[in-house]
Amino acid sequence: MEILLLGTGSADGWPSPFCGCASCAAAQGNVRGQTAALVDQTLMLDCGPEAPRAAVRAGHTLKHVRHILFTHGHPDHVGPAALLFRHWADRAEPLDLVGPKEALDQCRDWVGPADLVRFLEVEPGDSVDLVSERGAYRVQVLEAAHPSVLGGGAVLYDVSRGSHRLLWATDTGPLPAGTHAAIAGAGFDAVFLEETFGNLRGHNAGHHDLESFPRTLAQLRESGAANAATEVVAVHLSHYNPPPNELAEILRGWGARAGADGEIMKLGQGDSQGAGAASRTLVLGGVRSGKSVHAEELLAAEPAVTYLATGGSGRDDPEWAARVELHQGRRPAAWRTAETVEIAELLRTATIPILLDCLGTWLTARIDLREAWDGGPIELVEEDMRELVAAWRACPARAVAVSNEVGSGVVPATASGRLFRDLLGKLNSQMAAESEQVVLVVAGIPVPLRG
Ligand SMILES: [Zn+2]
Ligand SMILES: [Zn+2]
Repeated sequence: MEILLLGTGSADGWPSPFCGCASCAAAQGNVRGQTAALVDQTLMLDCGPEAPRAAVRAGHTLKHVRHILFTHGHPDHVGPAALLFRHWADRAEPLDLVGPKEALDQCRDWVGPADLVRFLEVEPGDSVDLVSERGAYRVQVLEAAHPSVLGGGAVLYDVSRGSHRLLWATDTGPLPAGTHAAIAGAGFDAVFLEETFGNLRGHNAGHHDLESFPRTLAQLRESGAANAATEVVAVHLSHYNPPPNELAEILRGWGARAGADGEIMKLGQGDSQGAGAASRTLVLGGVRSGKSVHAEELLAAEPAVTYLATGGSGRDDPEWAARVELHQGRRPAAWRTAETVEIAELLRTATIPILLDCLGTWLTARIDLREAWDGGPIELVEEDMRELVAAWRACPARAVAVSNEVGSGVVPATASGRLFRDLLGKLNSQMAAESEQVVLVVAGIPVPLRG
């Protein structure tokens, strides 16, 4: 299957035409129109008013189109005038229009009396075979979580041709349970998952944001709908997202990427970025820089994660306990927490991704244990550090470690403060040397230092 992305933006696109926000400014020259795609030049996934021109601008034609699948009746997905343009072009081949009632009803008046157009009204649970001399497609109709205006619902499509299979999932919020069940084990070659609202929260669902998107992805991976070879492409993007380069970094951590208008994908060529593959990321940052949030975000699309909490439970320190509780509340229920400072063995034998938060508290605990604060045996702590770095290097699963960047502040007043600063600086350097990615988080913005 060959897929041409005709548009990868929300209804208003990105940049949004009348907007002057920082995200729109950053997206200039990187225009995303209304989301739609053309498969094998034959099958269209949504056809809003901008889609036909997008095809022509990308150097393609719609003359081979034999099937149009509409997800719902919102005006960025249904531009029925396209049917009149096709009529004017004297296209005599048959055409299937597939979609919920709400979408198809908008098309009926735009079809000429002699046009060979077949209306296939569908609802979730239906499956349809679409055949032309250009190929045969099997289409499963899935329920979307997207409020419809006119009645008739909104649907998503599971489309396969031969051994290739894709999921077209726009517009929708977190997928209904029935949809997850219907596509469990599908092992899609490509998933096009909408991510409309970026950093906006408290919107009336019906769309994903940067919190719900990775959770949906984790569920798709959990059920086998997506696997390590699945290409995950975010579409229906809007200016509620951070600037495109920052969004790209966030999506990369989830084994996903943003689609681009005019891009062509060939399925089954396996250039997926392989979420879950073993790699090490060190996340550095000052106090309250957002480093823990960023580290958690990096792993948010993994179905299961072991969280190594090295800070202890804070039994003696209510402020610390409150922070631990806040961290725990933020993490998905499927994450396992191991509260321990004996982490080397856990790193060496990991079978699922690990989040280690953080090296500073681990180091404090080791210095305590070795009674090395006041002129005690630092060599033993340094041995612990060597063992940790070796285990980090040997970790067979994906791993993310958080650490404090403490070296740039004032010189600590106490000897123990200076000892801690020096040892942590050393440990950070050693861990960084063994990490594929190193990130410094400043004011909530991750700055890549490596990878
Ligand atoms: Zn839309
Ligand atoms: Zn919509």
